[in-house]
Amino acid sequence: MVEIKGISAKAVLDSRKEKTISVYIKTNVGSFSASAPNGKSKGKHEAKSYKKSLDDDIKQLKKFNDYFLKEEIEKFGDLRRIEDIVDRHIGANTLFAFESAILKALAKEQKKEIWQLINPKAKLFPRLVGNCIGGGKHSASAPRAYPEYPQEGHKKSSLKIFTEGNKKPDFQEFLLVPNFKDVKKSFEANQTAKKEIGEILEMFDKKFKSETNDENAWKVSLNDKEVLDVLKKAHLPVGLDVAASSFYKRKNYNYANPMLRRTKEEQLGYLSNLIKNFKIFYIEDPFEEEDFESFAKILKRFPESLIVGDDLIVTNYKRLQKAIESKSVNAIIVKPNQCGSLLEVSKVCELAKENNIKLVFSHRSGETNESILADLAFGFQADFFKCGINGKGREIKLKRLIEIEESLK
Ligand code: PEP
Ligand code: MG
Repeated sequence: MVEIKGISAKAVLDSRKEKTISVYIKTNVGSFSASAPNGKSKGKHEAKSYKKSLDDDIKQLKKFNDYFLKEEIEKFGDLRRIEDIVDRHIGANTLFAFESAILKALAKEQKKEIWQLINPKAKLFPRLVGNCIGGGKHSASAPRAYPEYPQEGHKKSSLKIFTEGNKKPDFQEFLLVPNFKDVKKSFEANQTAKKEIGEILEMFDKKFKSETNDENAWKVSLNDKEVLDVLKKAHLPVGLDVAASSFYKRKNYNYANPMLRRTKEEQLGYLSNLIKNFKIFYIEDPFEEEDFESFAKILKRFPESLIVGDDLIVTNYKRLQKAIESKSVNAIIVKPNQCGSLLEVSKVCELAKENNIKLVFSHRSGETNESILADLAFGFQADFFKCGINGKGREIKLKRLIEIEESLK
């Protein structure tokens, strides 16, 4: 059994050089630490990352030091006792990092891998989803995310002033979803394809500078359709994270490239055409985060594609229940720090599986060098693992998944 003898936390920097939390525990079997990632295109309904602030969560944890002294942890389900103590006093990032550190201690004490604490019989490996080309909020250093629409009465030519030189895709992520038997092969296929796409972009995109965005995906000066045209050349199944909430305002989807407003009906028509014309296999957050109905409409049209809820569900049991009732999705993103509680993650995964909804375990755009996501994804038997293609914090997780694969061969 694991006894927690001390707990502390400090701020560390994520891959975007923004502050996030790292939690440290002292136990009878040694010292352990774990950190949480940061999102940028966060869902409105996500649990708060910190109760009041990161610094305040650090103070709160210190206050609880003595409360944990008598807690003995023997299994995954014992996280309940931890949650009973800290519930409502710390935010989701802090709770996730704390529980991750506890699982590391428990794995050591039981001479097991972390995934075995969740499901010792796990054997199916998730399919990789890798971000190749980026846009939207994750490519914010490209000029201007959201153009101001000219006032009524402005001359048409003024449109140019707003858009010139500001071209980038409106969709947040253009994904590759290889389908090889081994994770390792898919990982290598994604890396090769991304490199080749980079070479193609040099010819196709006059402003391309081989720069990458928050998730280490290529930054381009193309619009969504042009990117999809380029991506065809990878000869791998293609996915999109539209992240539609990020450009939804006043009942319209406000596109910048080309500049156009779409109602939800027009959005449905537009995305339907893209799915058909570009054979899109995976589409995440095609509509804004309250529109369960439009999700249901697109799923009805394309039951063979994956209609994935990220901001729509935010790893939240109740929102998943709602999506099941309204038949809105056939896949969900699971980001453990969207809710913080690994027990909630477990409940969400169970409910999804009972309803034949695929699980896509996912990194965040601001990552740390923490690999536990791979163990969680494999332990919960995720169907997909969305963790980028390049970048240290992402490759650490992908390589951990490959390590688990190799260990079971
Ligand atoms: C996403 O929307 O899938 C994503 C990874 O975004 P973030 O981590 O910025 O919320
Ligand atoms: Mg998303």
